[in-house]
Amino acid sequence: MGNFLKDNEDLQFYLNQWLDWDKILEVVEPAGFGPNKGYASKEEALETFSDILEMLGGFAADEIAPKSLILDQEGVTFENGTATLGPTMNQIFDQMKELEVHGLLIPRELGGMGCPMVVYNLAAEIIARADVCTMTHFGFHGGIAMVLLMYSMHEGSTSVDTETMEITETRFRDAISEIIAGDAWGSMDITEPDAGSDMAAMRSVGEQDENGDWLVTGNKIFITSGHGKYHVVIARTEPVGAPDDPFAGLKGLSLFLVPLFEDEEDGTRTWHGQIDRIEEKMGHHACATCSITYDRSPGLLLGERGDGFKLMLMLMNNARISVACESLGICEAAYRLARDYAAERPSMGKTIDRHEMIADMLEEMETDICGIRALTYACAEHEEISRRMKILRAAQERAGAPTDAEAVRVERRHSRKSRRYTPMAKYLASEKACEMARRAIQILGGVGYIKEYGAEKLLRDALVFPIYEGTSQIQALMVMKDTLTRILKRPADLVSRRAQTRWTAMSARDPLERGVARIQGLALAAQQRLLMRTAARKFKGMRAIPITQWKDAMDGWDPKRDFAPAMLHAERLTRLLADEAICELLWKQAEKHPERRPILERYLERAEPRCRFLLDEISNSGDRLINQLRDLEGESDQEVA
Ligand SMILES: Cc1cc2nc3c(=O)[nH]c(=O)nc-3n(C[C@H](O)[C@H](O)[C@H](O)COP(=O)(O)OP(=O)(O)OC[C@H]3O[C@@H](n4cnc5c(N)ncnc54)[C@H](O)[C@@H]3O)c2cc1C
Repeated sequence: MGNFLKDNEDLQFYLNQWLDWDKILEVVEPAGFGPNKGYASKEEALETFSDILEMLGGFAADEIAPKSLILDQEGVTFENGTATLGPTMNQIFDQMKELEVHGLLIPRELGGMGCPMVVYNLAAEIIARADVCTMTHFGFHGGIAMVLLMYSMHEGSTSVDTETMEITETRFRDAISEIIAGDAWGSMDITEPDAGSDMAAMRSVGEQDENGDWLVTGNKIFITSGHGKYHVVIARTEPVGAPDDPFAGLKGLSLFLVPLFEDEEDGTRTWHGQIDRIEEKMGHHACATCSITYDRSPGLLLGERGDGFKLMLMLMNNARISVACESLGICEAAYRLARDYAAERPSMGKTIDRHEMIADMLEEMETDICGIRALTYACAEHEEISRRMKILRAAQERAGAPTDAEAVRVERRHSRKSRRYTPMAKYLASEKACEMARRAIQILGGVGYIKEYGAEKLLRDALVFPIYEGTSQIQALMVMKDTLTRILKRPADLVSRRAQTRWTAMSARDPLERGVARIQGLALAAQQRLLMRTAARKFKGMRAIPITQWKDAMDGWDPKRDFAPAMLHAERLTRLLADEAICELLWKQAEKHPERRPILERYLERAEPRCRFLLDEISNSGDRLINQLRDLEGESDQEVA
């Protein structure tokens, strides 16, 4: 009997020692503990979470992982407009139904278990290690029920008892009950043939009939688990705004809940939309990835009309954290497969894990996993606390309670951290899942390339992570824009932080603290150089202006044209800033738990030369390509020196 929680010491560290359960439980169980409460005590709550994860760890190891190659082979079938998962996947979901895990996140008063989102994130990593498709399809059960609940809370169609903080009524109670029971699931329908990363180009429309009811028309593609009933669809309801506004296209979008079908009492099914096909993909074979056409399909408006993009952003962070957790699952599977094989395979007088190059690869994989996990669960914790605090505050304010300024301050602090870490975690975890799966194949040699050992499946499955829920490049643009905007708002901070990190790098007593300060110094230098290069392209005299006065000098800049160097180097900057964030987080762990020091030691050893290299590239490469792109756009940059 295996167990994907119990065999993973690093993961258990987060569950048992690191996550700030006091703070998490404060927002997840706002009514507190006691005889008439959800849990008698905090300890009982933690024991319950631990038991659930242990149960899922055993289920993943014994019931899912051994079937992952069969799931891949069986795939999904499509006949007469209906997509059907393979028999083994259906059997796994029958078992999950019996385990009643679809209600993991759903509040207890609606029939769920009411666990924190962080417990779901840990479960996501555990299940994805066994098989990514199982995790993905699982996510479109409880995940969609939570999406409906969140939107309903946001629009005010869920009422809460402010004494107990329990939900008394909610607009989507029936759909949520169906999903918890394992009888339905849903999907997020965003992508269209001409609108992927560029959501402003979306063509699907929502319009009202003479009775004011909404009808949705359009084609959505690549929809995971799109053969389910409850589709959250984004469509245009308002005309595109002013053509010179880069965000004009995003403002006229609205969100709808569109049931793809209704099952009638006589056993027939009425379709409100049509599944055109399921995609033939290189990986994720056990997931139904559907192309769907809606033609005046009845939908329910979620929130206000025109708020679609804003509502989607509300849940984006969670979706991206989930992808980071699934990526960690693949990293862990790839690392263990490679490690165990290398320990057995003899070559030239010793097992291959004793050959320097293979040992180096394996150690780097293990170290990276620890780093990515620190970053991912930091996102998960901050996102959970800030999101729940916001919901609680909204409910209390609706009930007439005055705004608690201190609570707002704490909520914003967590929200800022979640916003800072999430795109980095999504970026790094998904890119590393591909890299580690590729390495596993290399370490397994010939058998890595054939199907039997499962290494090639890991790579095929991993390759979608840097594409969906916002591509790696889109994550990098977010990191770059947030970072540079922050500096431009308070340029003096950059100067003082550089001085401070220089001092710490020289004077701190602990060599690990000095190492972290060196990485911070490299990250700050990269930000400053990127701004200098960006500015130098715009104005001859900019270099002469002190950085603290740049804010005024930069008035009237066009981000699309003037930020070319920053856009070019956004991925490099993201890698460097992710290394910085990871080192800071591992340092916090090492300060409290000295047994974690070797992890930071190993991470720093690899991160420092990597960050120097990235800084060099950011500082010195790219001008030729930027000029070439400008020429292609027919621009002449008269102002460049
Ligand atoms: C298996 C699978 C499952 C999916 N599931 C879903 C789902 O459930 N629901 C859903 O709505 N969608 C889903 N998608 C779609 C996915 O979210 C999109 O494919 C993704 O957003 C990218 O859009 P695109 O394919 O149109 O690529 P494009 O947007 O055309 O991008 C192509 C390339 O250009 C880059 N690029 C684009 N714009 C910029 C820029 N400004 N700067 C730098 N680089 C840029 C991108 O990073 C990418 O490398 C799924 C896709 C796959 C493959």
